[in-house]
Amino acid sequence: MKRIYLDYAATTPTDPAVVQAMLPYYSEAFGNPSSLYSYGQENREVLQKARRTVAAAIGADPDEIIFTSCGTEADNAALLGTARANIGKGNHIITTSIEHHAVLETAHAMTKEGFDVTIVPVDGDGIVDPTVIEKAITPKTTLISVMHANNEVGTIQPIAEISRIARGAGVYLHTDAVQTVGHLPVDVDEMGIDLMSVSAHKFYGPKGVGFLYVRSGTRINPFMHGGGQENGRRAGTENVAGIVGMSTALEIALADRDEEAARQTSLRDRLISGLVDVGGIQLNGHSDKRLPNNVNVSVDYVEGESMMLNLDLDGICISTGSACSSVSAEPSHVLTALNIPPEKAHCSLRLTLGKWTTEEDVERVLEIFPSMVKRLRAMSPLGHGR
Ligand SMILES: *Cc1c(COP(=O)(O)O)cnc(C)c1O
Repeated sequence: MKRIYLDYAATTPTDPAVVQAMLPYYSEAFGNPSSLYSYGQENREVLQKARRTVAAAIGADPDEIIFTSCGTEADNAALLGTARANIGKGNHIITTSIEHHAVLETAHAMTKEGFDVTIVPVDGDGIVDPTVIEKAITPKTTLISVMHANNEVGTIQPIAEISRIARGAGVYLHTDAVQTVGHLPVDVDEMGIDLMSVSAHKFYGPKGVGFLYVRSGTRINPFMHGGGQENGRRAGTENVAGIVGMSTALEIALADRDEEAARQTSLRDRLISGLVDVGGIQLNGHSDKRLPNNVNVSVDYVEGESMMLNLDLDGICISTGSACSSVSAEPSHVLTALNIPPEKAHCSLRLTLGKWTTEEDVERVLEIFPSMVKRLRAMSPLGHGR
């Protein structure tokens, strides 16, 4: 049975060309970039080259890039690092109700350290209103963190507009761009971003490597303590192979980014209209301020988990709206933030496409879907038709 992977927002397969580029840095060119002999210094140059590549991809300077172990670390470092460094000005930060857990849980932990956190709501489409952010700013606000695009419902946020407000108030702006870098145009100057989190495994790079962009002049404390790596901003021996993989993956992603986004948008829209045609299925999130690869729907009377397990039997990998429905009965915080009632949130599915998704894959899903929904509805404990 051919597997159809439709969960690219969770992780992407590492491009075989990326793996090839990484291999020499395990057993051959394994030197520690901090070592002063040539074995080390050669790898130091390899790191600098990767730094130039990823910086250029987002319109930044190489010395504004801090390599991290993942997107989650970049989010933690951005929030904690800037909030702590600017405590002299105030203890208030602002974020939104639809952020990734890496931001929301960090913000939550910060409240226990004495920080004040305002979580602004989003509208029914999942878009943040910049004027609501403006109203939340106080003289004690030091940081605003708003994700570029949401990983569950795919909504794209008005970052440049939020930046104008942040700049006007003298407040730093952080954005979690893990779902957009490599997929959509991202330029830190055009968008007015001060800090930005990126993760390699969301654009066909390896897992366990990412970076934090920090605009030059930003006051930020190191998050990891130890050696003087990354100009004293992030201790720990650099993951040379991973960083090479990340920069190679980003170069490959940028080469055909726009064509790929257009191709995926058309597959996405075919999938959405095919699913909605089944009946009793609604799209969650905004119809066009949306990632090219994201489909998120609620299916009346059918549990997301049953659909996920049934599709898995047909070799189709998708995810449900309750990220960890097997361990908790809580619906997704993102769907809840969009005012989607729990009974619809529990009946939701996320299908995310990628560069290896074909038209045949989409047609196969649309072929299987109606009969699966009909079968599950007929035995639904949620009461449909009875
Ligand atoms: C995947 C993801 C993260 C976490 O990145 P990791 O590298 O897996 O830690 C953070 N934010 C968003 C929006 C993501 O999609």
